[in-house]
Amino acid sequence: MSQRVLILGGGIGGMVAANVLRRRLPPKHRVVVVDREPSFSLAASHLWVMSGARSPEQVSCPLDRLQRKGIEVIYGEVEHIDPAQREAVVAGRRITAEHLIIALGGQFIPEAVEGLTDGGLTFATLDGATRLRAALSGFKEGHIVILTAAPLYKCPAAPYEAAMLIEAQVRRRGIGGQVRIDLYTAEPGPMGVAGPDVSAAVRAMVESKGIGYHPERQVAKVNPKTQVAEFNDGEKVQYDLLVYMPSIQAPPVVRESPLIGESGWVEVDRHTLETQFPGVYALGDVTSISLSTGKPLPKAGVFAHAQAEVVARNIARAVTGTGREARFDGHGACFVEVGEGKAGYGAGNFYADPRPAIRMHRPSRWWHAGKVLFEKYWFWRWS
Ligand SMILES: Cc1cc2nc3c(=O)[nH]c(=O)nc-3n(C[C@H](O)[C@H](O)[C@H](O)COP(=O)(O)OP(=O)(O)OC[C@H]3O[C@@H](n4cnc5c(N)ncnc54)[C@H](O)[C@@H]3O)c2cc1C
Repeated sequence: MSQRVLILGGGIGGMVAANVLRRRLPPKHRVVVVDREPSFSLAASHLWVMSGARSPEQVSCPLDRLQRKGIEVIYGEVEHIDPAQREAVVAGRRITAEHLIIALGGQFIPEAVEGLTDGGLTFATLDGATRLRAALSGFKEGHIVILTAAPLYKCPAAPYEAAMLIEAQVRRRGIGGQVRIDLYTAEPGPMGVAGPDVSAAVRAMVESKGIGYHPERQVAKVNPKTQVAEFNDGEKVQYDLLVYMPSIQAPPVVRESPLIGESGWVEVDRHTLETQFPGVYALGDVTSISLSTGKPLPKAGVFAHAQAEVVARNIARAVTGTGREARFDGHGACFVEVGEGKAGYGAGNFYADPRPAIRMHRPSRWWHAGKVLFEKYWFWRWS
């Protein structure tokens, strides 16, 4: 009998899960991906759009491409999820499946900070990175303030990379002497989940560029008219250009569903990604997985990708009765772009006990080349 796998979300996790399932399942079984957006963009490359190294077209592709591989794509808003029935309502249409994967990511909520969207620009979205690139290329002198709107956001490295790429761009344009750059973060240090050594290494990378680093500074509000960012401790900082990483929350349709846990995200088995509902899996940014230190696994594409492979293999195994059980083991890696064609590279086991065992490699041209190759490979293999 034909079975259907319904994948809610066509981002990194959804695309990888769909590809692996399509390859492993006989054609009579249906693989269906739902997303509201007709186009996918690789967020890791948004920073290169910001810095001018890529055009928006180079880092995005139509989701329709999946159809060529025999994956069905439905465009529309996921309005309701009933995990007990393995069912979702998409643009008013009820879709039931034998296997349900929730890969709806995290929703940006810049509006959580008063004045932020009017007063600043973000590299987090493709549109934001495109607008920021225009603002940066016209910037001649003054104070650039980069901030994280909350301690929890996507990709722990991204705001630090953004600061270093902006600094490199400013220097390349010969206006370094006229521009001051400060980075304010709500968290106590860079990439704290990866441990104190990694955190200190990334902090040293940032400070070696002459960027002022101000940790544990939670922005309270922004006044777009006076161009002042005000922090919780009362300090007011004048800026000429404000750049931000927005905070996130689980998408409303997930928060309104019985899938939501006390963390405000979907809680899953850390190895199989199965939820409390049999046959229903959640992966990527929409989940919360607690590590041995009590901190959550970072919201990063590398984990969404690895988890999607595990979930897809196990669903294919359940359908076909062949293959071995797959388990997500907590390994992950990330490139840290530092500008001037160089990047650092951190990799290790986030599930290690008593704390994640991550090693950071010093910035070099090799790691930057690795990230470029990874980007090309990702689009070729998975889109
Ligand atoms: C600037 C930036 C740089 C980054 N750099 C890196 C990096 O270098 N390395 C790394 O590992 N990670 C990086 N990340 C993080 C990475 O992009 C995310 O962790 C990853 O995309 C999560 O994958 P996902 O499949 O869980 O969710 P997503 O990729 O966000 O996909 C979720 C999908 O669900 C859709 N959706 C949501 N709600 C609905 C709904 N109600 N109806 C229909 N569709 C819906 C969305 O349109 C989206 O396509 C970066 C993120 C940013 C913002």
